[in-house]
Amino acid sequence: MKILILGGTGEARELAEIVAGERGVEIVSSLAGRVRAPVLPAGAVRVGGFGGVEGLRDWLSDNDIDAVVDATHPFAGVMSAHAAAAGTSLGIPVLHLRRPGWREGPGDRWIRVPDTAAAARTVAGLGDRVFLSIGRQGVSAFAHLDRQWFLIRAIDPPTGGLPPAHEIVLARGPFTIADETRLLIDRRIETLVTKDSGGESTAAKLAAARARALPVVVIDRPPLPPGATTVDTAGAAREWLRRRI
Ligand code: NAP
Repeated sequence: MKILILGGTGEARELAEIVAGERGVEIVSSLAGRVRAPVLPAGAVRVGGFGGVEGLRDWLSDNDIDAVVDATHPFAGVMSAHAAAAGTSLGIPVLHLRRPGWREGPGDRWIRVPDTAAAARTVAGLGDRVFLSIGRQGVSAFAHLDRQWFLIRAIDPPTGGLPPAHEIVLARGPFTIADETRLLIDRRIETLVTKDSGGESTAAKLAAARARALPVVVIDRPPLPPGATTVDTAGAAREWLRRRI
């Protein structure tokens, strides 16, 4: 059985690690190629876009793929939609592996918004010093905000427009609550902006913001394709594959 794992996440690497080397299973992990020095999964890896749904269809056929696990980041909505469309048209099963989103708890001051543009509108009415922790993509939605100062953290430098007053910090998680608290204090942050990425490795910023009673603008995930089959752990994805072998 040959499986394509659409990756770029810790869960995708975890699944590749579990499945690589199992008898009767061959895996290929796919990375978009956005990050300059990606953490590579176990087993075979290909890098770069497929060329839309058509390109992905051709690639799946040419490589005799029997099943696809879409283990991309919860905000990689285009890739998830392409995987679903290509799988449906070829009759190949597609599983979407999505880690659970974060949940608001006591003491949190979250403002949930549907997308990055709405986050920028919300931020415009909040404090002067903003921690933009949304990764490299989407930062340009804040480029017109000239009243506030932004701390922008990402793995690689953002491309596109930037707000006039900003500092860029290049860093890759996991981060500790102590690190995040220090950053909030040092930069005198008044508002945090984050995607609802979920997972442990970048959750410390939420605890640090809670402890300092900061408002947190939380961008909701894009929806999964209609009728998507989903699991939320690499172990459950492994079980789904096992039932198909
Ligand atoms: P996206 O908007 O859903 O996808 C845009 C295009 O990038 C896709 O149409 C596809 O190009 C290509 N692509 C995306 N994921 C790919 C993969 N795993 N393998 C091959 N091609 C891929 O995706 P994105 O939000 O830019 O994310 C890109 C990658 O970064 C994903 O692998 C994702 O897991 C990872 N990532 C994203 C975020 C985030 O916040 N969005 C955070 C952490 C990691 P073609 O149409 O040419 O096939």
